[in-house]
Amino acid sequence: MRKLISSTWTWLIIQTLFNVSISSFTYAEGLGEIIDIGKYRSRSVLPDPYEKPCPDTPVKLLHLEGNLYRHTIGSPAFYSGLVLITQEGALIIDPARTCTALKLKEMIDEKFHVPVKYVVYTHGHFDHIGGGQVFQNAGAQVVAQKNALEPIIGERLPTALPNIVFDQEMALNIGGESVLLHHAPPSHSDSMTFVYFPKYKALQCTDICGSDSLPYGELPDFYYDGWVEALTWIQRLDIRWIDDGHHQLATKEQQLLQLRYLQELHTQVLDLVRGGESWEQIYHDIKFKDVYKKWTDFESYHLSNTRGMYEWISLHRRGDW
Ligand SMILES: [Zn+2]
Repeated sequence: MRKLISSTWTWLIIQTLFNVSISSFTYAEGLGEIIDIGKYRSRSVLPDPYEKPCPDTPVKLLHLEGNLYRHTIGSPAFYSGLVLITQEGALIIDPARTCTALKLKEMIDEKFHVPVKYVVYTHGHFDHIGGGQVFQNAGAQVVAQKNALEPIIGERLPTALPNIVFDQEMALNIGGESVLLHHAPPSHSDSMTFVYFPKYKALQCTDICGSDSLPYGELPDFYYDGWVEALTWIQRLDIRWIDDGHHQLATKEQQLLQLRYLQELHTQVLDLVRGGESWEQIYHDIKFKDVYKKWTDFESYHLSNTRGMYEWISLHRRGDW
């Protein structure tokens, strides 16, 4: 691995040009490390479940403003990510599946006639980062937070390894526009990247943010404290668009409610555990406010979310014994 060129001056120019409130991004240098992916060429990978064409899964590329787009998979969208398309090339976030990545590439080729220069992974979970090889094989650089590398290799995920990893923060520049990457606190994995487009005040906040929607299942790869910290941190950003990687676009206000949902679930489960209740009792006694009952996936996930929180609390407390 070797270090990329420091971009201190580029960064200062970005701040001057766009004159936006990005004070939460504290770095002065966008540093990354190049991964020698050739040495992993013969790594073992699982079969790709989305290798075959998927004509029944619609892919859309929706224009938001200026050079900013959003790609969605399925209708209603079950996966999504922001896309930047400039004259110099495109940047896409989380291709999600091989078969849909092929369609997305075709759409960008036909409509914009520019190469995809960067693919950014929001974290090291296969459901979001499948299909990365479609763009990497065509010349794109795949970028991820450094903690994503180990699970991609260790879990034998059938997608591209990152060509570039970063530790805390990194700036990418394409077609005169900047894209800022920030390592979010461990929350939904320890490899989470917030991606911020200062020109559009747009934030990619996959699987941490919500759009009046419950977090997934039993909160896999869950870190409660960091999730609270992450949702609190983004409140400092100036935000016009949020993509949470699923469903519909979200607002900053919705993230305060998302934060409250997690905190209330934590407090309630902790109180029940401290009251001596077993999981079987908690399962029956847990209560949810009406506002959350209207959220997407409430019926599917409210009890599994409770179970995930129960597991977290069980691992992170000690009573009087
Ligand atoms: Zn995930």
